[in-house]
Amino acid sequence: MGSATLRSLALRGANVCGVEQFGAAHDQGSSHGETRIIRKAYFEHPDYVPLLNRSFELWREIADESGRQLQITNGLVVSGDPSSATIQGLQRCYAEHALPHERWTAEETRKHFPQFHLPGGHSVFFDPDGGYLMVEECVKANLSSALHHGATLYFGEQVLSWHADTSGVSVQTDQRELQAKALVLTAGAWAGRVLSEYGIPLEIWRKVLVWYRGNGLEAFSPQAFPTYFIELDYGGFYGFPVVSEAGFKAAEHFEPDIVAQPEALQRQLLPRDEPRLQRFLTEIFPALRKPKRSAFKVCMYTKSPDDHFVLGALPETPSVIVGAGFSGHGFKFAPVIGEILADLALDGQTSHPIDFLKLERFLNN
Ligand SMILES: Cc1cc2nc3c(=O)[nH]c(=O)nc-3n(C[C@H](O)[C@H](O)[C@H](O)COP(=O)(O)OP(=O)(O)OC[C@H]3O[C@@H](n4cnc5c(N)ncnc54)[C@H](O)[C@@H]3O)c2cc1C
Repeated sequence: MGSATLRSLALRGANVCGVEQFGAAHDQGSSHGETRIIRKAYFEHPDYVPLLNRSFELWREIADESGRQLQITNGLVVSGDPSSATIQGLQRCYAEHALPHERWTAEETRKHFPQFHLPGGHSVFFDPDGGYLMVEECVKANLSSALHHGATLYFGEQVLSWHADTSGVSVQTDQRELQAKALVLTAGAWAGRVLSEYGIPLEIWRKVLVWYRGNGLEAFSPQAFPTYFIELDYGGFYGFPVVSEAGFKAAEHFEPDIVAQPEALQRQLLPRDEPRLQRFLTEIFPALRKPKRSAFKVCMYTKSPDDHFVLGALPETPSVIVGAGFSGHGFKFAPVIGEILADLALDGQTSHPIDFLKLERFLNN
């Protein structure tokens, strides 16, 4: 979110700098691990769709500008019991927005993609606009574009404190003091420290991504196999076609594993991390024979109280704008979030429809 905001501000001619405590496209936060799902139909809330439309446009623009392949549209299969929140949410979204899609039974899904052995009663939606983003490439493309348009980047530098008054904001890092008209905080899992002061609790969830190799991997190439999200009675699972030597990446979405603070995150693989995932792979993808773990990464979700993003100025401090609480589904929105945060920093308002995401919704309770 920081790299996208930096790009947006630089494109609008602002004199802007970004401060990052680690390196470019590092693996210590929430934006790493090869791929992220991108989709148009949104079971979490139909009001995300206009933002997604803009995000799709912007990812294309950034890809063209960078010459990198950022987004691969191989289609998305979403499957669940007809009564599940996922399927109910998708139906609501398709009722409100004219988005291309197909609805299949589990059996029909096998005609299109024989790799899936879905439970008989499942409802399946196929989103032809869905697919995945190459996550580190996206961050690097935003950073290069921001640099190209005049932004300054400080890596390996930590923001220690900031102070805002009517004349602007001063920011103290471990290496310098910066003065600015506005400050945009996109601190990911570290944002809870700021928002808790305003009574907005963010929860950090430890999340594990696992890559597998095994016999039959050739059936899971991006040409033959879609991105997917499957809700089962023992969890929600998602994954991607094979895009690198690391193999077939899969992960679990809903299961909480709460971490008190980012520094307490256990980055090694734990005994509890794999059993459900392995059951899922064995049951749903029998064509992937003898899967053996080839790699893993640990990452963090930063969950807001209602699982929707938290965007806006801090109370009584209009020059300090926060973009936080992306709740495990924010990456696909990064460029439009960048545009929104740039609007808020430069103009104090945005024309993007973000009423349901405004920080203020948590302040009056
Ligand atoms: C395993 C996993 C799978 C996901 N899958 C999807 C998906 O398929 N589709 C999707 O759309 N989204 C997905 N998401 C969610 C998405 O990746 C996140 O919402 C998004 O990456 C969050 O970006 P961010 O900029 O808020 O956080 P980050 O990328 O973590 O960035 C925050 C940055 O702030 C820096 N920072 C914090 N404090 C300081 C400080 N004091 N000084 C300097 N720097 C500081 C951190 O070092 C970090 O680089 C997934 C997330 C995870 C973890």
